[in-house]
Order: sequence, then structure tokens, then C-alpha cells
Amino acid sequence: MPSTELRRPNSSDYETLAELLLEGKLLTSTESIERYSRDESTRAEALPWAVVLPSSEEEVKKVLSWANEGPFPIVTRGAGTGVAGGSVALAGGVVLSLERLDKIISVDTENLTATCQPGVITETLQRQVEELGLFYPPDPASADTCSIGGNVAVGAGGARAVKYGTTRDYVLGMRVALADGRLIELGGKNVKDASGFSLLQLMVGTEGTLGVITEVTLRLIAKPKRRVSLLIPFLDLGDAARLVHEVTLAGILPAVAEFIDEVAIEASAKHLSRELPCEDKARAYSFICLDGDEADALERQMVSIGEMAKKHNALDVLAAIDEGQQERLWESRRTLGTAMKGLSPVIGKADVVVPRGAVPELVARIKRIGRALSIDIACFGHAGDGNVHVNILRRDRSEESWDTLLDKAMSETMSVVKELGGRPSGEHGIGALKRAELERFIGADALELMRGIKDVFDPRGILNPGKVI
Ligand SMILES: Cc1cc2nc3c(=O)[nH]c(=O)nc-3n(C[C@H](O)[C@H](O)[C@H](O)COP(=O)(O)OP(=O)(O)OC[C@H]3O[C@@H](n4cnc5c(N)ncnc54)[C@H](O)[C@@H]3O)c2cc1C
Repeated sequence: MPSTELRRPNSSDYETLAELLLEGKLLTSTESIERYSRDESTRAEALPWAVVLPSSEEEVKKVLSWANEGPFPIVTRGAGTGVAGGSVALAGGVVLSLERLDKIISVDTENLTATCQPGVITETLQRQVEELGLFYPPDPASADTCSIGGNVAVGAGGARAVKYGTTRDYVLGMRVALADGRLIELGGKNVKDASGFSLLQLMVGTEGTLGVITEVTLRLIAKPKRRVSLLIPFLDLGDAARLVHEVTLAGILPAVAEFIDEVAIEASAKHLSRELPCEDKARAYSFICLDGDEADALERQMVSIGEMAKKHNALDVLAAIDEGQQERLWESRRTLGTAMKGLSPVIGKADVVVPRGAVPELVARIKRIGRALSIDIACFGHAGDGNVHVNILRRDRSEESWDTLLDKAMSETMSVVKELGGRPSGEHGIGALKRAELERFIGADALELMRGIKDVFDPRGILNPGKVI
């Protein structure tokens, strides 16, 4: 059934829904649902029809079976930190917020796994396992606010992906409530599994369009004993991006390898009210973090990177060894998403990914697009894995001139990404805002197959209509 046949619930439908909930809540007043109207994209906003907050997996199943019967559109929401409009009911719908399903069920130190409900905040899980000497590496810069369910649903990455991979690489098992309220269990605690099609991996990155993730089992590893961080200022953004690539080619696998440009430097200084070292001269920085157990090995890698940096015209190489210094340094990079809003409350965001060697050319060409259109485009991100965050700043332009400029800047950026063999999203997902790009990149046949999969999982089209495909 196409999504146009979906209905808006009436008061008797809401009464039925409220009766299904034991401890869960149903919110319908404008002031109580207003905060569910947007995510962190700055470009997607719509008041949902209502918000339901289940307090158990059983209640999630009941809500879905109610919605499927309707049929009513359901928009699943984790913590609402997404930047693609995925959790916003843009086409109308009832938001299903999983914020109350926030328990870490177990940390299994024997099998190195953690099992938790989807609403657990990522940093809470990271901290809990680190107290046991274990490590959950995926580290989105939003870790203190985003949820594990949202991370799995989007396939979130983060700074440490260059060495440790993304959320996808850590998902071993999950429980999923299907559109009609049935529940399936996928995977478990096994580290390998060749038993049929991997529905587990299929679910990762489906952004609430195929089912609602109600429990996740994640792989853990031993926590590295040491880490050191390097901050390297440059006059030229290309040099900063090239250094990061050369480091990986030299056989050094940093835990983090990032760069930021001069617009990002301005945003960070304004947001944190402090400057990075050499800020009067630097037009770009590389941030590199090395981790491991052996101090000597880390020392040798630092020296090699210092030598490579000098060859690439670095203004200096600054090492942070103690944890406090390193935290201060990473704060400048980690808070950039928020800092950007201090320069421009409205931002066109892309998180494109290209083969690693193409990053210097990508950023040079995006900067050229910005100059040609007289618009500020900030580039920063995970250069080590080819994932660049492109922030197109509206600043104080009028809405009319901005819309045309944004379309042009975004379309030209995507053309460059395609030419370089890249993809429109490395970690933020497609949601609503990048849907138009998907077919251009993956082709009509692949998109048709995705639609077929959607029809099998969600024949009435109730789950997150208008998102991804
Ligand atoms: C300052 C800042 C920094 C960020 N840094 C990074 C970064 O470094 N790396 C990165 O990858 N992302 C980053 N993000 C983006 C965002 O935090 C991630 O996409 C995160 O995974 C979203 O999680 P959430 O819980 O907020 O999900 P939401 O925004 O609530 O939802 C995102 C999508 O997942 C679906 N969904 C949520 N929970 C479930 C569930 N249980 N079952 C099924 N579908 C579900 C929603 O329907 C929606 O489509 C950043 C965002 C901000 C604001």
C-alpha cells in the first residue's frame, strides 16, 4: 500500500493507543511534542501528530501493531541528534521515541560483548565498559548525546573509524520489532556467522525504514593502554590533508586522523573562546591520535609523523601526552558541529566520502566552488578514512538567495564527489535531506532492489515514510 493511503489517527485511535501502554506515555499537546519537531540538521522541521514513549519492548511491539492496523505513519527517534532529517516527521506521523529504553542490560567480560537497549547514550556505554578495562571504539563526536539505537540505525562512524571501523563493525546481534509488531532476533554473541543472508547487517543503516531496533549486542575489545595526540598547524589545507594520507601510506595506523580548515578554526575559537596554538598564522590543522600498549612504538611513530609533517610544510608539530592536554585539544575538534552554528544558525551539511587518496583534490575543488559562488564552505573531518564534513554557511543571507546558492553549491559538490568515485554519505545517512542524491550515486536498479526489500519488511509503508528511498 503506498504511503498516500496512510491515515492520521483520530481521537478514538489515540484512546486505543493509550490503553495499550502500561508505563509508556502518549504526548499530544503542542508544548510537550514541540521538542520532537527537529533534529540537528538545522534544515528539517515538522511538528509530529503525537509522540509515544514506550517503556518496554513489549510496548514497542504493541505500538507498531496499532500503527500497522491504522495504517498510521511511525517515525522512530533515538536522541534526535541526526543531521539528515531522519527522525523528523516531515510527511506527518506519530514519533516513536525510544529515549526511555535506556538500560545497559549486561557487559559480558567472558565473551567481550555488551547488550543494551536502544536509548542508551553512547558515551554512557563507553564509560561503563572502560571501567572494566574494555573498549567500545565507535566514537561519534555527538557521543554524549546520541543513542546506540540511532548509531546502529544510521551506521554511525566517528573519529576512530580510520583504525577501528564504524558502528556496523561492532554489531553482533539485535532484536527488531517489525512493522506488524512481530519480533525477530538477529545474530547474537557469535563473532562469526555464515548462516544464511545477514539480515543483521542489512538492518544497520536502514534509518528506521525496515523495523525498530529494541536491543543491540555489541562487540568490545581490550582498551589500549596509552594514547598520544599531535596537533599540526599548516598554512595550506591541502598540506594538512596530504599529511594525513601519507601517514597511513607509511604503514602507521593512527586511531584518529582529522583535519580542519580556516572556517572551522574561526568557529572553534568563537565557540570555546580560546585559540589553538599558532592560530595567528595557521590556515589549517591536522589532528592525529596514536594509541597502543607500547610507549616505545608510539614514540617512534610520533617522530616519523613529525618528519613527514616538516616535509609537508608544517608550521610546527605539537604533542599532547597527558590526558588533560589531549582532552583540551580534542574538544576543539569534537565541538565543531555545534561551533559551526555560532557562525551560521542555518547550514547546508554533507558528509561525503571519497577514496582516501582523493581527499586533497576533493577539498581543493570544494573550496573553488565556494570562491566561485562567494559562499563560505567549511571542510573538516575524518581525512584518514576519506570522510569529509562539508558545511555550507548561510550566515546572514536572505532566504531566497540562500536556497538557490545552497542548491548550486551542493549539486556541484556532489558532482565532484561522484567524479572522484565517492558517495553522498560516509556516516550521517540519507534521511530526508539527501534522498535526491541517492539514485544519482547508486543507480535506478539498486534503488529498485532497496524498494523491494522495504516492501517485504513493511508492506503497508508505515515505517519512516519518505526517508532514504
Ligand atoms: C555535534 C554533532 C556531532 C556529530 N558527530 C557525528 C560523528 O562524528 N559521526 C557520526 O556518524 N555522526 C555524527 N553526528 C550525527 C548523529 O549524532 C548520528 O547520526 C547518530 O547516530 C544519531 O543518533 P540518534 O540517537 O540521535 O538518532 P536520531 O537522530 O534520533 O535518529 C537517526 C535515524 O535513526 C532512526 N532510528 C533511531 N533509533 C532507531 C531505532 N532504535 N530503531 C530503528 N531506527 C532508529 C531514526 O528513525 C532516524 O532515521 C553528529 C551530530 C551532531 C549534532
